[in-house]
Amino acid sequence: MSDAQPVFRFAPSPNGELHLGHAYSALANQAMARATGGRLLLRIEDIDRARSTATFERQIEADLAWLGFAWETPVRRQSEHFDDYRAALDALTEAGLAYPAFMTRGEIRGFVERRETEEGRPWPRDPDGAPLYPGLDRDLSDGERQARMAAGEPFAWRLDMRRATAMAGALGWHETGAGPDGEAGEISDDPGRWGDVVLARKDTPTSYHLAVTVDDALQGVTHVVRGRDLFFATSVHRLLQVLLGLPAPIYHHHDLIFGEDGRKLSKSARDLSLKALREAGLTPADVRRMVGLPGAAAAP
Ligand code: GLU
Repeated sequence: MSDAQPVFRFAPSPNGELHLGHAYSALANQAMARATGGRLLLRIEDIDRARSTATFERQIEADLAWLGFAWETPVRRQSEHFDDYRAALDALTEAGLAYPAFMTRGEIRGFVERRETEEGRPWPRDPDGAPLYPGLDRDLSDGERQARMAAGEPFAWRLDMRRATAMAGALGWHETGAGPDGEAGEISDDPGRWGDVVLARKDTPTSYHLAVTVDDALQGVTHVVRGRDLFFATSVHRLLQVLLGLPAPIYHHHDLIFGEDGRKLSKSARDLSLKALREAGLTPADVRRMVGLPGAAAAP
C-alpha cells in the first residue's frame, strides 16, 4: 500500500460500557475506512487509571466484535505509552510553553467565586463551561517554582496558552463533518478559549489532549472521526500539533445520539448500553437502524 492509504481510529475509554453513541462512532469510522480503502485502528484510551478497568476493556472488544467492527492488532493501549507523552511534555516545557500550576481544584473554585462576587460578572468559561484557570502561578520565578516542587507541593503541568498561541500563529483544520452550528470546511477556531489547559497531572501523567495528539501522529492517523462533543477540543489538538511539529489529520465530527428524553447518552445510561441491547435480543442490524446507519453490516 502507498503512504497515502488513509488511517482511521476508534478510541474509546474503558471506564464504562459502550452505548449507541459509541456504536455509531465505531461504525462511521468503519464505513469511511471501507469507502476509502483505509486502515481501521482501535485505541484504548485508559490514561485515567482510577476509572479504567480491564473488564470494561474486554467488554468493549466483545461489543465491537459483535457489531462486526474489525480492527487491526496490536491495539494501542495508552497506559503502556506514558513515556511518549512525557517526551512531548518535556519538549513543551523546554520551549517554555508549559508551567507547573499549583492551584488545587478547590482554590480555583474559591478564586473564581470571589472574583465573580467582587466584579459582579461571570469569570470566563471554556467551551465545556468550566472556568478558565486563573494562571496566578504562570509567571512565578524559576527559583520559586523549584522550591515549591522540591517541597513536594502537588501541581499539574499546564500549557501557557498565550505564549503557545503567539508562537503557533494562525491555526485551522479541514472539517468534513460539522460543528454544533453547522461549521464545515476550513475551520479557524481560537484555542485560547480553553485557557491554560492541563497537559499532565501527578496521578495521570498526561492529559486527554496531549495523549490524543501524540497518538494520532504516532499511529499515522489521517482521518479523525468522532462525536461533535469534541469539535471545539480540536483547536487545542491543532495547537499541540503545530507546537510539536506533528501533521494535521482531516477531522469529521459526527452527530451525537440522544436518548428518548433528549439527553446526550452517557456511560451511566446503562439501559442503552450495547451489552444490554444485545442481552435484550437485538441484532447488530437493529443497532445500525437505531443509529440511522444504512444497511446491515455488508461485507466489504
Ligand atoms: N477517548 C475519547 C472518548 O471516549 C475519544 C477521543 C477521540 O476520539 O479523540 O470520548
